[in-house]
Amino acid sequence: MEKLTCSHCGNIIQEEDRVCPSCQIPLSKEQAGASQKRFKLFFIAVVIFCFVIMYFVPPDWLN
Ligand SMILES: [Zn+2]
Repeated sequence: MEKLTCSHCGNIIQEEDRVCPSCQIPLSKEQAGASQKRFKLFFIAVVIFCFVIMYFVPPDWLN
């Protein structure tokens, strides 16, 4: 599991922290897990894209 850091001061924060213990900036969970969420969405998009391609490309496209 990757360490979460405050986007304001770079201090290492705990996942359950609501505010940064160093600079008291409120932390948003969405911000902390944004890259992971984006990766999942990207992965799902790629899978859907593959299925669409498989559906539209003729079965004999390898020949
Ligand atoms: Zn901070």
